[in-house]
Amino acid sequence: MAGEGHAIGIDLGTTYSCVAVWEYDHVEIIVNDQGNRTTPSYVAFSDAEQMAGDMAFNQVMRNPTNSIYDAKRLIGRKFSDTSVQTDLKLWPFKVIEGPADKPMIVVSHKAQEKQFAAEDISSIMLGKMREVAEAYLGSPVRNAVITVPANFNDSQRQATKSAGITAGLNVLRIINEPTAAAIAYGIDKKAGWYSKRTVMIFDLGGGTLDVSLLTIGDGVFEVKATAGDTHLGGEDFDGKMVNYCVQEFKRKHGLDVSKNFKALRRLRNACEKAKRRLSSAMTTEFEIECLAQGTDFYITITRAKFEQLNIDFFKKCMVPVKKCLKDANMDISSVQDVVLAGGSSRIPKVQQLLQDVFQGKELCRGLNPDEAIAYGAAVQAAVLSGKGDEKLRDIRLLDVTPLSLGVEIGDNCMKVVIPRNSRVPITKNTTNRTLYDYQTSARFPIFEGESEDTSNNNFLGDFTLLGIPEAPKGEIKFDVCFRIDENGILNVSAKDMSTGKERGITINGRMQKNLRRI
Ligand code: AMP
Repeated sequence: MAGEGHAIGIDLGTTYSCVAVWEYDHVEIIVNDQGNRTTPSYVAFSDAEQMAGDMAFNQVMRNPTNSIYDAKRLIGRKFSDTSVQTDLKLWPFKVIEGPADKPMIVVSHKAQEKQFAAEDISSIMLGKMREVAEAYLGSPVRNAVITVPANFNDSQRQATKSAGITAGLNVLRIINEPTAAAIAYGIDKKAGWYSKRTVMIFDLGGGTLDVSLLTIGDGVFEVKATAGDTHLGGEDFDGKMVNYCVQEFKRKHGLDVSKNFKALRRLRNACEKAKRRLSSAMTTEFEIECLAQGTDFYITITRAKFEQLNIDFFKKCMVPVKKCLKDANMDISSVQDVVLAGGSSRIPKVQQLLQDVFQGKELCRGLNPDEAIAYGAAVQAAVLSGKGDEKLRDIRLLDVTPLSLGVEIGDNCMKVVIPRNSRVPITKNTTNRTLYDYQTSARFPIFEGESEDTSNNNFLGDFTLLGIPEAPKGEIKFDVCFRIDENGILNVSAKDMSTGKERGITINGRMQKNLRRI
């Protein structure tokens, strides 16, 4: 990949996206055509054209049903997912059930009805970020690292990768957002590498919360545990404020705008801006002319009111923090740094609650929370494409298995051989026995997933060992070996311990795709 031009890092956010590149010894956050360092993750269709970013965002009010956002909440999910069912009630655009339970977004484009999968929308957005980078760099860009929330499952990762490929990108790697933030953080402190530090990344964005515990040392970033909420972020806080404004408008003027999309959209935009101001000011106000029936709306909101409206959400943000510590079997004293990422981590009350969990510990606010993830992705892109110079030479990322791997025994029973989050390369053995009297062959179906019932897990492949000596059940033993090599290729073999006969299978493409690089 080296020498193939620039490699960019893209933070494909639920609400905003950001692109960065490693250039002349530092990371440059790339400014878009509107002069902004982040770009709204919006894609819109009209009778004349297709738009993405600020242009799409700015015409939402005129064209609500054909302006798509939140594609990240849909990507890699099934239409029947509870979260999809809840979300689609709130979206002004139409989402229907496509083949194989896939959600499809329906829009009118150039006077024709068209359907798009979430990855098509993400692909347009990634294409937009690619254009932003190309305009800045003045040359075509192909190679990219794209970030995803740590709690994205395999199909969400796959769908994000496909979106990148459709956008004409060579996706060097999909990395976890908190890991990208950690890389940015590590680089920041590069001057003196620590012996080993445990860092918590608290990443609260527009739509998701991701909490990760990582150890960083000698250029190695290792995720110890992750927790999060795929449905908690700035948009929820905006929503609470919008509801409050709707009530206030009704109280003051007797007008109900709760079903008036245009009014709600205008309120949402104003509330989002007001919310940002309340991160530094104690009071803010805004006015919307002719919100409904020629009536203007004016409101003053204090930080205290904003906090009161959202306190339940803010407290909910602390749940994954505690869970993450518990999962990693760590207490707060083992965490050296608590790092903030994601725009919503600027909210003072959130910071205060987080600080309370850590008994007053100072939080790391050194990174720009909107840009940290793209920053880390750009560093990783430079390393992977061989563009990195001296400064980046020592960076290595360890791989872990994102899902448990195991073999089926008996009736749909999953026997885990390699638990999820195991570092690779890895070799693990287990002993299986014959299940029936006098069986002469044994099948070894291999699965990945967390359910004890294999029918809920992903089937990866199988093989059969023949010529087993007839014996009562349980008497013949097999040594089953799972091995994942440095390239993420899984090899499973089984040896009949009575005869020494052995068979196996290599599960190549799938495992490689499934490997979560951390
Ligand atoms: P991200 O997904 O990380 O780009 O975060 C975007 C979210 O951060 C949006 O919901 C923004 O409204 C929110 N945000 C950005 N800046 C601030 C701020 N100063 N205070 C509160 N929220 C903010």
